[in-house]
Amino acid sequence: MKLSNYILATDVLDDVSLDNKRIIFSTRTATSILVEESIYTNLNAGKFEAISPEMRSVLEEKEFIVPEEQDEFEYIMAVNSKVKEEGTFLSMTIQPSANCQLGCHYCGQTHSKHYASDAVIDKYYERIVYLLSQKSYDGIAITWYGGEPLTGYSSIKKTSARLIRLAEERGIRYTADMITNGLSLKPALFKELVEDCRVMNYQITLDGTAESHDQRRITKTGDATFDIIFKNIKDVTDLPEFKEKGCGISIRVNIDKTNYQYVEPLIDYVNEHRLQGKVSMYFATIVDFGGNDAGKASLGKDFFAEKEIEWLLKCYEYNIAVNVMPKRTYSVCMAEKQDSEVYDAFGNIYACWEFPYSETYGQGDSLIGNLFFPHETYNTNATLRNWNEMLTSGQTWCKTCKHLPICGGGCPKSWFEGTPACPPFKSNYKDRLLLDYFIQKKKEESRLAVS
Ligand code: SF4
Ligand code: SF4
Repeated sequence: MKLSNYILATDVLDDVSLDNKRIIFSTRTATSILVEESIYTNLNAGKFEAISPEMRSVLEEKEFIVPEEQDEFEYIMAVNSKVKEEGTFLSMTIQPSANCQLGCHYCGQTHSKHYASDAVIDKYYERIVYLLSQKSYDGIAITWYGGEPLTGYSSIKKTSARLIRLAEERGIRYTADMITNGLSLKPALFKELVEDCRVMNYQITLDGTAESHDQRRITKTGDATFDIIFKNIKDVTDLPEFKEKGCGISIRVNIDKTNYQYVEPLIDYVNEHRLQGKVSMYFATIVDFGGNDAGKASLGKDFFAEKEIEWLLKCYEYNIAVNVMPKRTYSVCMAEKQDSEVYDAFGNIYACWEFPYSETYGQGDSLIGNLFFPHETYNTNATLRNWNEMLTSGQTWCKTCKHLPICGGGCPKSWFEGTPACPPFKSNYKDRLLLDYFIQKKKEESRLAVS
């Protein structure tokens, strides 16, 4: 047996009263363990016999220690392929509207008042029926994206009714989520989306408190939107259906040099409005979108990672749900999955949801094809579909990176544009491991207090 290459570790944790201990983390299984320094030393020295049999068996089971002859990269890639092949959900992204009410400076889309017509909806349906016939699936998962998807609500309603019926006829599951600006998400519409379209999870963006959000996420006519969106979030999360149906809202905060100061006040604001237990928060760095150079204003990776830890800690203190630790990632995103497609309102098919309505990526090699043309004409090698080759050939840093099993390579589009896609976790994993340790400890303490 040998020590895995895919291990991360904190420093010794004397500063937080975990004397002579550190947390080790296997990215192969996304497992962290608090260990005595002596175990860590023996592990690194390959002196596995000096570790107790119980601990050794845990370390083997969680793949900190792996077979001597194993090529770990090959093994990880083989497991990824197997999991992908066995994937049982047909996952699609549908962008039924080319329109959006907002005019965010970092958006790379060109909007027009065009919505998926009945003829386009027929084609969405036919293509999904065709893909379902190619493999055995347990379910259909739809992500609604835009433009602003709710500007194409009538198309969403019609498509959902047909796909839900299709799933019922086939005896398979149907799930849906939506990425929306939240401007039209009033309670009455929300109820319809949940009841009729089975959209249970929503991602809504707030770029800080009103002071910064309203400088950025304004309507095309320049009007402020923060108060309307925030009220919508409050109103829908107050609906009994929200809890009964297990709905969720993730508040995404797009961050760059010009608004990072407003993230903390936003977390305070979410807390003041007692939204914990109803929403989660997610912090994202602004990147180029459709080749628009928006990433120029982004914060340095290390600085972002430092600030992110402060934000995560603040959320933890307020009991606002955040994702602290990454999971094992078998597939980086839809771009590399041949059976995951993005459809726009014109019937165009892409591999990445940032491609539709973008001048840079809307046509040419990025276009797989159009639903109105026979599938024999589709380009199966469209931009980003070759992510696996990019990764295995060593064109990115991922092949030799310890984070690969949990990261998968970040975002293929970023690498394609020449920008390393490493997530902040790569810079702040030591702090995150510790934060996760305290979160788990707190959970365990409250569980014991209840029982
Ligand atoms: S390539 Fe990047 S932007 Fe495109 S779908 Fe994947 S993660 Fe998203
Ligand atoms: S994107 Fe960065 S962190 Fe992720 S696997 Fe590639 S090199 Fe590692």
